[in-house]
Amino acid sequence: MEELQKALNETSLTISTLPEKGRCLFTTRDFSPGEVIISENPYVSVPNKNKESPQSKCEWCFSSTNLKKCSACHVVWYCSSKCQKSDWKLHSAECGALSKVDKERLKSLTPSLRLMVKLCMRRKLEIQKIIPTSATESYKYVEALVSHMSDIDEKQMLLYAQMANLVNLILQWPDSQINIKEIAENFSKLACNAHTICDGELRPLGTGLYPVVSIINHSCLPNSVLVFEGRLAVVRAMQHIPKGTEVLISYVDIAGSTITRKKTLKEQYYFSCACPRCIELGQSDDIRESAILEGYRCKDSKCDGFLLRDSDNKGFICQQCGLLRDKEEITNISKEVKSISEKASLSLSSGHKTEAVEAYKMIEGLQLQLYQPFSINLMRTRETLIKIFMELQGWREALSYCRLTIPVYERVYPRSHPLVGLQYYTCGKFEWLLGDTEAAVRSLTIALDILRVTHGTKTPFMMELASKLEEARAEALYMLRSQD
Ligand SMILES: [Zn+2]
Ligand SMILES: [Zn+2]
Ligand SMILES: [Zn+2]
Ligand SMILES: [Zn+2]
Repeated sequence: MEELQKALNETSLTISTLPEKGRCLFTTRDFSPGEVIISENPYVSVPNKNKESPQSKCEWCFSSTNLKKCSACHVVWYCSSKCQKSDWKLHSAECGALSKVDKERLKSLTPSLRLMVKLCMRRKLEIQKIIPTSATESYKYVEALVSHMSDIDEKQMLLYAQMANLVNLILQWPDSQINIKEIAENFSKLACNAHTICDGELRPLGTGLYPVVSIINHSCLPNSVLVFEGRLAVVRAMQHIPKGTEVLISYVDIAGSTITRKKTLKEQYYFSCACPRCIELGQSDDIRESAILEGYRCKDSKCDGFLLRDSDNKGFICQQCGLLRDKEEITNISKEVKSISEKASLSLSSGHKTEAVEAYKMIEGLQLQLYQPFSINLMRTRETLIKIFMELQGWREALSYCRLTIPVYERVYPRSHPLVGLQYYTCGKFEWLLGDTEAAVRSLTIALDILRVTHGTKTPFMMELASKLEEARAEALYMLRSQD
């Protein structure tokens, strides 16, 4: 760890250990908004392939263009010989093992199994000195990660043991070289430490283990943000961070009430969040905000009061006008939403998009009767509608839903959060497609202001955004001149 501490000191960071939190990363100088605090290549990583992201990806850089399959194992793809070469030391070992696996078993080779196979391989190659270690890259930093073995229930434990056996079957190493218990423990480490690698628009591409970035703790009010540039994890300051401050990112989507966030963090990461937002739990401001984000609206459609459960448990009382909203009425609408939701997602998964649109619009209508205008559930429904309309090229409808989500985004995320910037970017793209150049310039300007902090300025994604904005500005100017 001394080596790592020294390397971090050189980049104005230091690791401290606090009894209640474990390892923490602190700054040793001021960082300004948009500045890179730390970047790290994955110790091991693997691309994903699922319903949301069905295309194959380069094993090294996650690109999905110009791919060629590895001719020996027929499992991994590369976009270039450069990527293949960079991955070769690790893949040549993995390739040998994968080539021996029979076709049926290959089908059940999930990304998490592959990630574990690669982790075992990399460890072995380090011991054999085929892959060198460095101050920031070594298996000992994987060993230092928390595993939460004592918090895991028996069912989960059994699953990890089964997965460890599958890894063993793929590796086919002699018994002396394999430790099933350690592999099972490593699965639990991956569950709370592996990061989802995303593209610039935060769409998932794969999974990676970044043992140094993993030292950074969570806050529901983070001062930093983690984004990916290809395989590289980059943590940037979202705001001014003074010297001696803990670097904090968010592990989960921070849209939601304190109870919801705390529950998600407890279930996924086994800790009880004590961030400045979470310690407000139960205080009047927090109760109000939770009721606005996840609670019901007043029976009187003109009243914008928030509702709390009444003491007799008959229903929910408006805190502004005192009207009671009957529990039964709420249950009935909720049931209807649930039954339409099932049909809606079925239509969507079977490709009946127009049917799905109708169903989601009905859900939106019911949720408007049920929830507050800033409701997270309502926002999620609208996000789904945006996605479907984009697929149907219904830009006008997509734009109007996009505009409806922005006030909610601005309420639930910090001002310079990437999701806020991306939503403005989406809005700007629709406005541009619909010929509303002036609006597009406004939206893209806000998007660029936010995303240059979270994403930097030099990635292809950001250059595209900047050039779109320039084009829109030029056109707006041209239109203005031709009006004169
Ligand atoms: Zn590549
Ligand atoms: Zn191969
Ligand atoms: Zn929190
Ligand atoms: Zn009311």
